Amino acid sequence: MSSTKAFASQADLQDKKVSFTKLSDHAYAYTAEGDPNTGVIVGDDAVMVVDTQATPVMAEDVIRRIREVTDKPIQYVVLSHYHAVRVLGAAAYKPQHVIASEDTLSLIKERGEQDKASEIGRFPRLFRNVESVPPGLTWPTITFTGRMTLWLGKLEVQLLQLGRGHTKGDTVAWLPAERILFSGDLVEYDATPYAGDAYFSDWPQTLDKVAALKPAKLVPGRGAALETEAQVAAGLAGTRNFIADVYASVKASANAGQDLKTAYRTAVDTIRPKYGHWVIFDHCMPFDVSRAYDEATAYRDPRIWTAERDVEMWKALEG
Ligand SMILES: [Zn+2]
Repeated sequence: MSSTKAFASQADLQDKKVSFTKLSDHAYAYTAEGDPNTGVIVGDDAVMVVDTQATPVMAEDVIRRIREVTDKPIQYVVLSHYHAVRVLGAAAYKPQHVIASEDTLSLIKERGEQDKASEIGRFPRLFRNVESVPPGLTWPTITFTGRMTLWLGKLEVQLLQLGRGHTKGDTVAWLPAERILFSGDLVEYDATPYAGDAYFSDWPQTLDKVAALKPAKLVPGRGAALETEAQVAAGLAGTRNFIADVYASVKASANAGQDLKTAYRTAVDTIRPKYGHWVIFDHCMPFDVSRAYDEATAYRDPRIWTAERDVEMWKALEG
């Protein structure tokens, strides 16, 4: 890696191809070759969207796909977690309710503004028509702790907090009758997990709880919809192995008294052969290793990323 490597994903400008995949009469996956996914649940009387896209203009494309399959009103938006790239498109759906876990609400209050500025700076392509984002933040109108069940007519939708992982507020949406799961960024497929706000020591156990539901199909946070149990198992194993491998490497470095930059070089050299082909690998690794080093040393909870801290960290590790 040279010192001219562009910050985060500022050099990633190539648009991706969108797929809108039917998983059942009630479930669709809006995916885009590793860009953030949106889940769509069609009930008897209403539609629920799981994660919104980064801007209202981008969400309009999701709505266009939904309108190709149903004219039912989009009443619910579920936020799998607080990250800007998932939530700032919410206004486009004009939902009756925006639902998130209480832990996600507390993160929005605590660090939503900083996260918005930081994420827009990191990945401009993912915030197309950022001027369409209304001022302020996306606020839930309903929050829950642990578990919440909604009935869209006869269709049961469970919103579950299975544990900490990608963030402390992670929520999955689960259709028990069809065994279809929308995981948010807890599970990725052929895409590098972003772990800058993660709990490395909790994430693998949380994935065990996802696996215990025995999903037949799973829509990850990034990457193609997983449509067979073998693909679901591969998505879970890939995410778990990446998180465990990064944390093992960084923890060993920290325990040996190495500084963050040395831990970073060691982790990238160790991890790249196995995972370097996944999208956003080079974007994620500095953030992932920084958080892993924090967790292995002094910080139980993730520190807030600001646009300034992002750039300072990048210069320190990549400069
Ligand atoms: Zn995220």
